[in-house]
Amino acid sequence: MKKEKKIVEYASNSKVEKNSKDDYSIDANGNIIRSAKEYTQGSVTGRRVGAFVLWFLGIACEVLAILELLKKVALPKFEMMTWLIILIVLDLVFVVIGSMLWKKANHIDPRSEKNKLGFWTWNNLGTIMSIIAFLPLVILIFTNKDLDKKSKGIVGAIAVVALLVAGISSYDFNPVSKEDLANAKAEILATGDYETNDKGEIIVYWLPHSTKYHLHSTCTHLNREGTSSEITRGTLEQAYAEGLTEPCRTEIKALEKGKTETGE
Ligand SMILES: [Zn+2]
Repeated sequence: MKKEKKIVEYASNSKVEKNSKDDYSIDANGNIIRSAKEYTQGSVTGRRVGAFVLWFLGIACEVLAILELLKKVALPKFEMMTWLIILIVLDLVFVVIGSMLWKKANHIDPRSEKNKLGFWTWNNLGTIMSIIAFLPLVILIFTNKDLDKKSKGIVGAIAVVALLVAGISSYDFNPVSKEDLANAKAEILATGDYETNDKGEIIVYWLPHSTKYHLHSTCTHLNREGTSSEITRGTLEQAYAEGLTEPCRTEIKALEKGKTETGE
């Protein structure tokens, strides 16, 4: 028996929810259809500004840690070692969250990859910020003459781990470019069989935790036994924003084959 699946409209985590839970329609197959909630340019700008604010706070923690280490300031209540660890952890939290916002903004609003260096630098700005936010402190800890060997080992190791965690987690392993998106669009348009919304934007479907998007909710890959009972529907841009950058090859191939066979 074919399992019936619920189609849930893609919802971004932008703070303004355009539709309430009760605002949906049910289609002939019993699928729940919700109106799309879109990313706005504002949410991209907000994320970018947020990233810079958080990176700045992270670097401010590093500066304070350096001043404490060099005994230029004497922070109250705790010993120097405790303060250094607190400041490194705070630095790490700020930098990692900042980079998350930055990467998300770049997936919603991709940059052109015509300039390779510019593209790499822009997408991995979080990694560059991580180096700025930790490397000077790491160097100063290991070259410090006042710290005893044991303290140096502990706080130095924590700072190095923080540098690595921040640097790696800030790196965009799956960057998206304007050209990628344009190519994906061209490939879908070439099939001649796809859905659009009332704005003419291409609609795709995907399963949670998947990396592939599908052109039709009826695709066998979406309706196989053992897959999630919820299908998300959104625009191609929204799929890209969620990191879904691979089309369903089965559908693309079948549609291309169908076109040549009917001589279209
Ligand atoms: Zn498919």
